[in-house]
Amino acid sequence: MTALESVSMRIGAEWRAGTRQFCSIDPYTGEPWLSAPEATRQDVEDAVAAARAAFDRGPWRSMPGGRRAELLRRLADLIEQNADALALAETRDNGKLLREMRDQVRSLPAHYRYFAGLADKIDGRVVDTGRDNFVGFVLREPIGVVAAILPWNSPLLLLTFKIAPALAVGCTVVVKPSEHAPASILRFAELVEKAGFPPGVFNTVCGEAKEVGQWLVSSPQVDKVSFTGSGVTGRLVAAQAAEHLAPASLELGAKSANIVFADADLDAAVSGLLSGIFAAAGQSCVAGSRALIQRAVADVVIERLVERTRRITIGDPKDPATEMGPIAFGGQLDKVRRFVSIARADGGQILAGGDTAGDRDQFFLPTIVAGLPLTSRAWQEEIFGPVLSVRVFDDEEEAVELANGTVYGLAAGVWTTNVRRAFRLARRLVAGTVWINAYRTLGYAMPFGGLRHSGYGRENGVEALNEYLTDKSVWVEMSGAIRDPFTVG
Ligand code: ADP
Repeated sequence: MTALESVSMRIGAEWRAGTRQFCSIDPYTGEPWLSAPEATRQDVEDAVAAARAAFDRGPWRSMPGGRRAELLRRLADLIEQNADALALAETRDNGKLLREMRDQVRSLPAHYRYFAGLADKIDGRVVDTGRDNFVGFVLREPIGVVAAILPWNSPLLLLTFKIAPALAVGCTVVVKPSEHAPASILRFAELVEKAGFPPGVFNTVCGEAKEVGQWLVSSPQVDKVSFTGSGVTGRLVAAQAAEHLAPASLELGAKSANIVFADADLDAAVSGLLSGIFAAAGQSCVAGSRALIQRAVADVVIERLVERTRRITIGDPKDPATEMGPIAFGGQLDKVRRFVSIARADGGQILAGGDTAGDRDQFFLPTIVAGLPLTSRAWQEEIFGPVLSVRVFDDEEEAVELANGTVYGLAAGVWTTNVRRAFRLARRLVAGTVWINAYRTLGYAMPFGGLRHSGYGRENGVEALNEYLTDKSVWVEMSGAIRDPFTVG
């Protein structure tokens, strides 16, 4: 057996291999490929203390924004040089297509450069205080130590959504990657060091035990929590953060609607439905897992969709011909199976897939289900797998009602050539992102996040800076007059 690759945690100026290790399994081969450290409570406390010290006493927050920007740009260059190796580490951890992970990692330098460009533009404002003798101004200051908790599906992309703005404004960070996908995050820390960031600005802790995340979020030394993951864990994380009154931003699950009107370009719509759910084998928070199709075109759209779905090539995620890789790990596969059983029990008709791929148990076939009652959990809840539920609607009112008819509010797609309808729907859909004649497009300049049970807070765009800044009001008295101490002034 070849020796496993290994990674260490970056804590302050130290690399720690951990007193114990756990293995990350490559979901395609089913074999362990990486040995990662299991953080102790002490490791977590040390990482938070290093971030605290770097924030309170280090040069980071007091450094001119333009200097922080230089380091962010250097980091962007290093990511560019190492993108393919980082992408491969992600594919080995989570089984997603290498070409998707490559696209994602290659998109990251632009994120860091965008926020580098904002780092020296964190301007406050001067306020009319309503008093002759006072000047008032607002300083926008970094909030402090940020705990970033990550899921396994797009580790570096989702890390970047958090740390590019956090570092740009002068925060320090402790990151905990998912136990299913630690490799790329811990390797990324090597690039942060190489770029020349002061020690303690970027720290990593890692572990299989849920406690590692809990210790981090519960630390009273943490000033802000930024979490991406499931709704169940998101609630726990928000509650843990609330114990010490740290604000949290949460990017959680969804059951997004991809709506096809009869006036749509149907080829584009079918392609959009496919990419919405089967790209990444549905393991994406923005997955368009509910297709709503207008009655006049329902038969033709569903027929084309089913036909193309049955031809999806599953296989080695590293092979450029593969269209869908394995499910990331056994627990996730069980969840997909469970939901498909629920769909069957609730009267859903399986139009494609419906099971694992023959003898290749780590793959779940791309699956289309029709005829689910609106009350079915398979219609209402996030599956995070390659399962699309389709439903026919008659008019725009019904489409909006169905689209908005879950507890979530992350994303929605609309396929139409009617410009008025497109704008109407953009307003009426309850979602943080609405795509018109597109699906699953994200960019560093566009704010991203959810409503309702999909979470709160925004990542990307100038809006993301607000998550990591706090406003300080400064009152300056100019007259020198002594005021009556028993009035409010
Ligand atoms: P997923 O398996 O979909 O990534 P989770 O939402 O459970 O789902 O996990 C997201 C991240 O949250 C992971 O890094 C995980 O280790 C971490 N985590 C799990 N439980 C907790 C917890 N109680 N407190 C903090 N982090 C947690």
